[in-house]
Amino acid sequence: MNASCRLADSFGREVIYLRLSVTDRCDLRCVYCMAERMSFLPRREILSIEELDRLASAFITRGVMKFRITGGEPLVRKGIMNLFGSLSRHVRDGALRELTLTTNGTLLARHAEELVRCGVRRVNVSLDTLDAARFAAITRRGSLDVVLGGIAAAQAAGLQVKLNAVALRGITEDEVHDLVGFAHGRGMDITFIETMPLGDVGADRTEQYLPLTELRQLIETRWTLTDTLERSGGPARYVRVGETGRRIGFITPLSHSFCDSCNRVRVSATGVLHTCLGQEDSIDLKAPLRGSEADALLHAAIDTGIRAKPRGHDFRIDANGAPALARHMSALGG
Ligand code: SAM
Ligand code: SF4
Repeated sequence: MNASCRLADSFGREVIYLRLSVTDRCDLRCVYCMAERMSFLPRREILSIEELDRLASAFITRGVMKFRITGGEPLVRKGIMNLFGSLSRHVRDGALRELTLTTNGTLLARHAEELVRCGVRRVNVSLDTLDAARFAAITRRGSLDVVLGGIAAAQAAGLQVKLNAVALRGITEDEVHDLVGFAHGRGMDITFIETMPLGDVGADRTEQYLPLTELRQLIETRWTLTDTLERSGGPARYVRVGETGRRIGFITPLSHSFCDSCNRVRVSATGVLHTCLGQEDSIDLKAPLRGSEADALLHAAIDTGIRAKPRGHDFRIDANGAPALARHMSALGG
């Protein structure tokens, strides 16, 4: 192993994108993501801010140039702005081309300006509905106004905002035109995500599931869509809307079409490297990280994990709507 070698898996795919979860905790309990009563991990198992920085920096020396901080809700993590602050050195020196985060937006108003100072340019905000009562029901405790205020503050601070909406049967069909109009009217792209069968959430997945093929047909009854070839190395496909000039993304994780160009890996808040969102394969990076002050063991473990990256994923919702993988989305952050 050479600690300056770039990361490539056994299928020749180069890994340049890391999604780093900084907590499994969240101030919301979205029905497709978490159960009402969740048991969260003991704090000693979660990497410290210093450990997260060391781990992140090891990936950056191996050629990872895009970072997405996620969770759980990343902005509820104590000390999170210290992590952004220290990672900003990699943005300044050009090693990190993009430092970004996915957030539910509840704490965005508080942190937007500091995020900009840390070199963050874009942020993904999750918003599934524009109806306050529905928002409270989907998130089981959130306030729509707070999130809308967070989005406005982020834009005022100069952050480019993209919305993520999970496609939910019985909800999104009603609102899809309003969501597109809201996003594009405020200069934001919007991406719809098909529900993924991750973890027990105390509800029947088959009832939540709304295929994006169906949603797209519905969008086309109002908007003129043109397919684009733009790809992110991930599962999103984009269309451009004639009436607004902005983009709609569709993320269908149940399709296999993106695996050949997959350039990403994920690390949980406990320091476990997952090389495929849809497989159980994983390798622990916490023990090598804590076991030695030098990074040789850590790099060796990263290499072993990347070499074992599976060719593709294995999602399915079984006939009973049971999850294909026991881990919750909040453990890895999508
Ligand atoms: N808390 C942050 C948020 O909500 O944006 C970041 C973590 S959240 C797990 C990341 C994304 O995953 C969100 O856009 C959320 O809507 C989506 N998500 C959560 N559970 C999902 C599921 N079962 N299927 C599809 N998307 C899911
Ligand atoms: Fe929290 Fe995000 Fe999961 Fe909702 S989707 S419960 S905001 S982690």
